[in-house]
Amino acid sequence: MENNQNNCIRNMMYGLNQLVALDNGTMVPAINLDNAATTPPFQAVVKEIECQMLQYGSIGRGKGQKSEHSTKIYAQGRDIVKDFVGANSNIYSVFYVNSTTDGMNKLASALIESDEDIVLTTRMEHHANDLPWRQRAKTLYAEIKADGRLCIVNLERHLIQQRGKIKYVTVTAASNVTGYVNDLHQIAKLAHRHGAKIIVDGAQIVAHRQFCMLGQSPDENIDFFVFSAHKMYSPFGGGAVVGLKEVLDAHIPQFYGGGMVEAVCDEQVRYLTVPDLYEAGSPNYPGVVGMLKSIELLKQIGFDYIAAHEQRLLRKTIHTLQQLPNVVLYGDNENIADRVGIVTFNVRGIKPEAVANFLAGHAAIAVRHAAFCAHPYVRRLTMAPEDCGIESCVAPQGMVRVSFGIYNNDDDVDAFLAALRKLLINERLNAFASRPAIAMKPNWPQDRG
Ligand code: PMP
Repeated sequence: MENNQNNCIRNMMYGLNQLVALDNGTMVPAINLDNAATTPPFQAVVKEIECQMLQYGSIGRGKGQKSEHSTKIYAQGRDIVKDFVGANSNIYSVFYVNSTTDGMNKLASALIESDEDIVLTTRMEHHANDLPWRQRAKTLYAEIKADGRLCIVNLERHLIQQRGKIKYVTVTAASNVTGYVNDLHQIAKLAHRHGAKIIVDGAQIVAHRQFCMLGQSPDENIDFFVFSAHKMYSPFGGGAVVGLKEVLDAHIPQFYGGGMVEAVCDEQVRYLTVPDLYEAGSPNYPGVVGMLKSIELLKQIGFDYIAAHEQRLLRKTIHTLQQLPNVVLYGDNENIADRVGIVTFNVRGIKPEAVANFLAGHAAIAVRHAAFCAHPYVRRLTMAPEDCGIESCVAPQGMVRVSFGIYNNDDDVDAFLAALRKLLINERLNAFASRPAIAMKPNWPQDRG
């Protein structure tokens, strides 16, 4: 049953059987275990984009039939996005962005009114949900616990200490390093109790778990949600911000141009409201079309299946890696129910880049290595604080990351494990310094509650 469904899903993907060259020149199908970075598109997505290009006209700017057709699909898409994230309420509005990075920058540029504004984020964020705030506001960070999970006690302590002065709490839904899924509705409740709004980086959740903006009570609702379509089986360029209409209307993003204005005089400008206000310039229609098709397909496949399938691959991978000598795993590898399909590890004595090169060159397996645009988090998991000032270490060497998508299967996992075993055998005689297999390194600030 599981196999049948997985085969069907594999048949839905574009480019899965594409051959690539190994180091020895042999051509073999590529195996992608780097879905947290980007996913291959669904075939139906590519087809839909091609099909809509036949009817493509300018969005919201012309009167021709094609323009009206494209404008209608573009506008209707906002309801599809809302429905996808459970934002079934008129309090929310959707504006399209190119990616999570784009969305976070637009949000930060709009919402932050002064460099005295206080934003609380965390030490487990991707740079996309750290730097846009760091550049504009006073940014505080909730620490992580020894196992790499977010420390909610520390997060709440910041909220209490700032006595209602924190304007926004911005947190990832799922980590791109450890795969931990945060309890967003609990964090929303805390944020709201202390007068803050909550922003969620949805990049690593949208293709893996059901997400709903609405909690069990209004104080648990998420205020802003940002995600990228290229992490959910659509090509790069789609993405959206779902957010509180009233708040968005009260601000202006620092991104100006045509389409966001009602009138421009020599001296004065009258701006439109959200979503137009946040979408200056001609929109990326193919990106939106692809994203809408992906949403449709993900809903058809169903998140119960997706989550269960990816958990099974995760469990199997972790279980085998735990048996291999000299493999150091990060995070809590016993209780994995709150992790999406991401495993990070190191091989003692071998640089992460060398592991990734070996997997690609010998087995056509794509993984990611280094610090995954989450340097503060990776530093905490791999280095002692005294070793990682910016002068002494520009970027940490980091880890190797395997990340699953819906189409990966046991053969992919087996191929990865076989290639890694081969590497371990090849390298067995190498001398290296031993490193303890723990999550966070000692001496980082921690709130033990
Ligand atoms: N947040 C997280 C958790 C991510 O994993 C990523 C992508 N690696 C981003 C934000 C940024 O997404 P994008 O590159 O699509 O802007």
